[in-house]
Amino acid sequence: MQKQPDVVAAVDMGATHIRFCLQTADGAVLHCEKQRTAEVIRSGVVCGVTEMITAQLRHLQVHCRGLVMGFPALVGKDKRTIISTPNLPLQANELRDLAGKLEDALGCPVEFSRDVNLQLSFDVVQHNLQQQEVLAAYLGTGMGFAIWLNGAPWTGAHGVAGELGHIPQGDMTRHCGCGNPGCLETVCSGIALKQWYEQQPREYAMGDIFSAVPDDPFVQQLLNHAARAIATSVNLFDPDAVILGGGVMDMPGFPREALIVGIKQHLRRPLPHESVKFIPASSSSFNGAQGAATLARCRFLPSPCAAPAPAVRG
Ligand SMILES: [Zn+2]
Repeated sequence: MQKQPDVVAAVDMGATHIRFCLQTADGAVLHCEKQRTAEVIRSGVVCGVTEMITAQLRHLQVHCRGLVMGFPALVGKDKRTIISTPNLPLQANELRDLAGKLEDALGCPVEFSRDVNLQLSFDVVQHNLQQQEVLAAYLGTGMGFAIWLNGAPWTGAHGVAGELGHIPQGDMTRHCGCGNPGCLETVCSGIALKQWYEQQPREYAMGDIFSAVPDDPFVQQLLNHAARAIATSVNLFDPDAVILGGGVMDMPGFPREALIVGIKQHLRRPLPHESVKFIPASSSSFNGAQGAATLARCRFLPSPCAAPAPAVRG
């Protein structure tokens, strides 16, 4: 029997959607798909993810050499432990040894990563910023944030660095999904935006908030919170560039330029105010999965990485 070609699998698990890609050793994308997270994990995350991947492996008659999976979660330095997932509907018993269970079911090694680090790896390679110091703010369901330092995502002593969404600069009367009071995400996140939108009947769709009511005080406050938090990170890290993206920033009418003006207003002068560049994240929703696939290729396939490899440390 002819040997099946080797591929790697990449899964980007979001609160709403799961994106899944298969890549060959030379980086060709064999398959990309998007499904609703709730449907995939209906009968358990191991079962759902395994079925999704093995159906395509069978269909394409390829052999999977490894999986990198991204979560909107704190992921431990061992790249196997999911420490906290406030924005994902997963039970504690499902998270216990999830990597081991997936490895048994798929028959290949599995590695986890925080989703924003996969997205950051993709954006850094896309914009050829590997040698620079880069921050990325992804305003989506939460306030995603990631740091690129010395050629790799900087993950801190325990794998949990860069939690800008959980600095205590939010509404102190409200608790965040992480359990703490007053996190930035209570006032600056897709979740906060949705809660505000659902407070009363509105004459426009949620996706049209920025076009329909750009001057609403809540919308203005959300932008001010984002600007102050991102400016704080720039003043702390003095980066070459800041990548701005995420589902909320991709909404029609999002005032990107006004946000940048708002950030710059709080930057230390003359530097980093005069030097820092703002770069839009690529808007394809498969970035996280593609970043995971690039990483999986470097981890699990013997050939050298074709693209400059985002080596995720720690
Ligand atoms: Zn929090």
